[in-house]
Amino acid sequence: MASEPRPPITLAELAQKPVTDLKGVGDRKAKALAEGEVQNLLDLITYYPRRYIDRTNQALISELMAGDEASVLVTVDRCTSRRVKGGRVLVNAVVGDQSGRMQLVFFNQAWRERQLVSGKEAVVYGKMELFRGQRQMTNPVVDLVGDQTGRIVPVYAQSEKSGIYTGDVARWVAETLRRTLPAHGGRGLADPVPRGLLRRHDLTGREEALRLIHQPDSMAEVMTARRRLVFDELLRMQLALVLRKRAIERTSKGIVHITGGPLVTQLHAKLPFPLTGAQHRAIDEIAADLRRTVPMHRLLQGDVGAGKTLVAVATMLAAIDGGHQAAIMAPTEVLAEQHWLGIRSLLEGLTVESKASLFAERPLRVELLTNRLTAAERRRVLADLQAGEIDIAVGTHALIQEGVVFGSLGVAVIDEQHRFGVEQRAALRERSRGDAQPDVLVMTATPIPRTAAMTVYGDLDVSVLDELPPGRTPIVTRWVKASGTLDEGPEDLESAANLEAMWAEIRAQIGEGRQVYVVCPLIDLSEKLEVASAEETFDRLLNVELEGFRLGLLHGRLTPAEKDQTMELFRSGRLDVLVATTVIEVGVDVPNATVMVILDADRFGIAQLHQLRGRVGRGAHASTCWLVGEAGTPDGEARLQALVDSTDGFELAEVDLDLRGEGTILGERQKGRNDLKLASLRRDREVVGQARQAAIELVDDDPLLAAHPELAAELELFMEPADAEFLLKG
Ligand code: ADP
Ligand code: MG
Repeated sequence: MASEPRPPITLAELAQKPVTDLKGVGDRKAKALAEGEVQNLLDLITYYPRRYIDRTNQALISELMAGDEASVLVTVDRCTSRRVKGGRVLVNAVVGDQSGRMQLVFFNQAWRERQLVSGKEAVVYGKMELFRGQRQMTNPVVDLVGDQTGRIVPVYAQSEKSGIYTGDVARWVAETLRRTLPAHGGRGLADPVPRGLLRRHDLTGREEALRLIHQPDSMAEVMTARRRLVFDELLRMQLALVLRKRAIERTSKGIVHITGGPLVTQLHAKLPFPLTGAQHRAIDEIAADLRRTVPMHRLLQGDVGAGKTLVAVATMLAAIDGGHQAAIMAPTEVLAEQHWLGIRSLLEGLTVESKASLFAERPLRVELLTNRLTAAERRRVLADLQAGEIDIAVGTHALIQEGVVFGSLGVAVIDEQHRFGVEQRAALRERSRGDAQPDVLVMTATPIPRTAAMTVYGDLDVSVLDELPPGRTPIVTRWVKASGTLDEGPEDLESAANLEAMWAEIRAQIGEGRQVYVVCPLIDLSEKLEVASAEETFDRLLNVELEGFRLGLLHGRLTPAEKDQTMELFRSGRLDVLVATTVIEVGVDVPNATVMVILDADRFGIAQLHQLRGRVGRGAHASTCWLVGEAGTPDGEARLQALVDSTDGFELAEVDLDLRGEGTILGERQKGRNDLKLASLRRDREVVGQARQAAIELVDDDPLLAAHPELAAELELFMEPADAEFLLKG
């Protein structure tokens, strides 16, 4: 009987084999590996090298001049340690190659003495210095090469403590790969990605890629391998996102909205300015979604001041034109109130048909729902919401609490999504009494580079407001190099003079009738300390730099009534200066405020600084943003300089991504389905786009991946079981 061809080994099968199946891995080593999250052979072969030692590219000791940084392959002669002043341990090793010898010096790394045993081979990387005429490297990077051969040696993350060395990992990986080969009784490794796709993107096979990433002969091979494996990671991620999007579309019944109805027309007629091109585009894209039976899930991305609120309002009016309601949810009470005020004034005079009496009209009704309402107010609002007598509910998280029921929620807008999770989005959708799902528009001013957006918001469609309304005077940003902590007093004359010049300009601005924000130093550790520091800043300004002006203080520990009162005084021009913690970060809109001072600006992130700066530049007068801060770190300096150089949120987002890496952007959203081990949204921007395109093509032809069962099975391996059920079983 002819034997069936045996199918190649899948990642799922590898995931079922414990590392203890390998030679030399007993319970102790297995436990140590488990600490590095390596439990099975899949974990092991995706435990990729941290870096590589290129033995073809090493210097000889005798060639090195003082100041050179280099990597040298050496043998340890001897190694000693002693205590020096202050109880520190100094380890001293003498090492050599065929050309000469040098010293290695390590401070406070006592374990080096056990690592650098005489006779061991190591690659050391560091800066050569001359010390009393001798060549020396201080605290170099050391890789023990062990008995690894080859021109390119992979270096794995290792744990000296638990006795796992890079050479061990290389050996175990090699054994795993060998045992998958047919010549050694294996069945080869499966490659579930369609051939045509690989060819089109010029990608190597998976088996080859896995071998080359662990056992390359050249750095070019590493790059080839990496490209394929990165593609796989991003393809899996994009497939999951695109499948989710399609599944939601399949399973949810939406409302077919009227677009271009009477309220929308009234709004357009009422606007004192024309829409920007970008606003037109976004509104059209949204209108197309609203007319479909499938509920909209769209992200509206637009820089601070780009005019997102108007787009949101036009969207909400479409729902009301069809007899439904709308809600807009903001992350803070200040912002919710701001929206409430803004939207009410924008919609003043608009009327809707009253359900109570035929042919009668009533004013369009916008109500605020936050936790500040009294019990009686809340009861009334809830009853009217349920009866459909409130058209737009503006609120905070209070909108998604128990007991809130809309008569018929047609559109839900979520502002500043970065503070809301996916769960809140779902909760808001579920608040409606009707069985149809509302259309959802998520707005964010946090500029996210496009590739990152594809990943973070990959299950949403995206509209971008990439154009500011005309007539804005650009904000001039100036960096004052001084400590922002005022009471310490400036550390040198120059920064004292810079600071005084700044305050003098600010006093002149106030003299001309403008208003000023002063953002207090950020204190991560405790709100209490932050409030104390804000109070100190306030007192100091009141008595020294801004003596004689009208100052208000806003921080998180004030009662809602106190906050309201202060905001109202500032809005109406009865305060010149608002001293505040970052509670004013989002949304506050006072066009007459033209000066933003951010103290200790080096402690804020780029996105946050950009948000804060966006509080000014909203009116006809020229605005200035003063960043007071010391450079401190190279990153801090780069951040402040970036703000000075650019007011373009998207450009800043790119800088931010370069400085911080993508970890913070992926954040919460990717938990549970993030298997990005090699891929970097920053380095691999292009591949993100390719993978997304590939995922869309695969899923559009085949919404449950029925024609690609191996690929579907592999996705399942990387997903939560509940997700897999929802996305792949139809
Ligand atoms: P965002 O929420 O995107 O930061 P807003 O919606 O708060 O921006 O709008 C900022 C300011 O710009 C508001 O005062 C708004 O009235 C105004 N605005 C919006 N669209 C336009 C436009 N097309 N032309 C002129 N001003 C506009
Ligand atoms: Mg806004």
